[in-house]
Amino acid sequence: MSRVRGERQAGPAAERAARGLLARRLGLLAAAIALMVAGSRDIRALRADRETVVVSEALTRRVPLSTYFDGIRGTLMDTPVFLFDSGVPGGSVLILAGTHAYEPASPVMAYVVMENIAVTKGRVFVIPRANPSASRLGMLGNAYPPFFRVKTPWGEKRYRIGDRETHPLEQWPDPFTFVHYPSRQNLAYQDSRNMNRTFPGRPDGNLTERASYAVSELIRRERIDMTIDVHEASMGYPVVSTYVCHERAEDMCMMAAMVLSAEQFPMKTETSPKSLRGLTHREVGDYTQSFAVLMETPEPFIDKFVGPMTEELMLTGRDEFMQTAADRGLLYADYDIKTGATLDYRVGRHLAGAAEVIRQMGEFHPEKRIEASWPGYADIMKHGVGFYLHDPAKADARRVFVN
Ligand SMILES: [Zn+2]
Repeated sequence: MSRVRGERQAGPAAERAARGLLARRLGLLAAAIALMVAGSRDIRALRADRETVVVSEALTRRVPLSTYFDGIRGTLMDTPVFLFDSGVPGGSVLILAGTHAYEPASPVMAYVVMENIAVTKGRVFVIPRANPSASRLGMLGNAYPPFFRVKTPWGEKRYRIGDRETHPLEQWPDPFTFVHYPSRQNLAYQDSRNMNRTFPGRPDGNLTERASYAVSELIRRERIDMTIDVHEASMGYPVVSTYVCHERAEDMCMMAAMVLSAEQFPMKTETSPKSLRGLTHREVGDYTQSFAVLMETPEPFIDKFVGPMTEELMLTGRDEFMQTAADRGLLYADYDIKTGATLDYRVGRHLAGAAEVIRQMGEFHPEKRIEASWPGYADIMKHGVGFYLHDPAKADARRVFVN
């Protein structure tokens, strides 16, 4: 009820009360606007943020993803595609990183590949930020920092942590239930913004479906022989330290997992379940000619039961609650708080995991051989990721890109 009853309280007292009320309301409005402006400053800064990459001399072309499907042009989902073409006939691979932005060993692995790759046979495509919109958001309620920094011999390089799904500012509102196309399987509402639930995508779908469609079109038109979707997983989730492969790729994944486990680090392999729809390891295998492979590392940062989600946790993976879970046998990968699961370890795993499964494709299908090299697991564990990231200030400007 309003406290102003002008008609019944005529006179100076009523006028004073009315003026007081107006002043309070204007004050509250000004405070709300000030909070909105201050609160949106960080949001706007994160949306404008760009990561820098110094590509190797092997780069032959950089095009926007909308080259393959115009329906995402002018949106934040129109992400750069980098091509390293040897000019020598052979196989082709797409390294698809950042599908889930809050799994950042994935884009960092892609950047290490791009900064150091040499290729003498076949073609290597890299998309370091498959969902750039998700990389400009934090997970609601998780209160973690927007960035982490990697130490290099010349200073620090900063990367975004991001969220799992496309930013609601790009795609809103969510449906009550997300109906996957074309299987019509019902998924959770937020999966309408989850790029690893929207494949193979569709040209008239929501923005995330259109971006997935653009990637599928790239794979079809460039005749990509193998697509490697690079992820990280929580350790309380069974699919960790694993290749998940479409049945057409399961032999090469099994061989790669055996070689890695014998020579470098524990790696499992699983075949993509036919009933789980929208994921790259299922839909890219079903709707394109490509061998579909997905890789997961252990990432404590995204587990549900860790302590404070800090930059340090992102870099070291050391957490006492994770150790308690490990002691009680609740994790699906080995864990020791003394070593944690460092960014170096996770990026090193992905670099070696991609190299080995590509090598296996060449063993099974000699006409699809690719000869490409980048730092391996032992290199990263010895020198650290930062050693392989170059200083944009000292690099040839034609090799410096922002992403
Ligand atoms: Zn993921």
